[in-house]
Amino acid sequence: MRVVLLGPPGAGKGTQADRIAARFQLVHLATGDILRANVADGTPLGEVAQAYLDSGELVPDQVVVAMMLERLTQPDCKRGFLLDGFPRSVAQARALDEHLAEVGTPLDAAINLEVAEGELLQRLAGRGRADDNTQTIRNRLQVFASSTRPLLDYYDEQGLLFSVAAAGTIEEVSERILHAPRDVPWRAPPAGSQPATSGSEGVDVS
Ligand code: ADP
Repeated sequence: MRVVLLGPPGAGKGTQADRIAARFQLVHLATGDILRANVADGTPLGEVAQAYLDSGELVPDQVVVAMMLERLTQPDCKRGFLLDGFPRSVAQARALDEHLAEVGTPLDAAINLEVAEGELLQRLAGRGRADDNTQTIRNRLQVFASSTRPLLDYYDEQGLLFSVAAAGTIEEVSERILHAPRDVPWRAPPAGSQPATSGSEGVDVS
């Protein structure tokens, strides 16, 4: 199962991705976390990334694409993965699609977490990460609107997009994600119950 999680900064992608990945034993790849780890370790990649992280701009596509495609070829991703924060532009999405087509394992779904802007600002202001200051937050939301929002159409045209209201408690949002339409592969009986008859709802972890 290969899934992309979309949504603006503050939508709760990381929290939901952790829960879904744990439930289905998928690798959760959070691009922002990988970039921040590189900054903390002082790697060459981190040196390139730092100014972009600080300002809320996107790290250049070719840098992020190289980093993520390399990561996706590692053996732990064979079972499936949940991408959180990648792709963030149509160019990144195309590069990802091309790579996955080459290796014969296309995406199964793109889940979009929808949140009203007022709620986002509140959540981000309360989080306290280094790039959660007012100016950077504003910039990240603008970058989302201009570079990342077009991905919704991109995946919708491929029939992969599923939007979920991300207001409410963490549990409520997880439930909504898990009750995605039948064609999202994780639509499955609750953990511990018998697989559905006719095999229509089993968890596809291919
Ligand atoms: P959030 O979604 O809350 O903004 P992230 O941790 O996902 O937090 O991203 C933080 C920053 O990392 C972004 O503002 C951007 O600078 C950089 N970044 C993360 N993912 C990407 C990506 N796919 N392409 C380019 N830059 C990225």
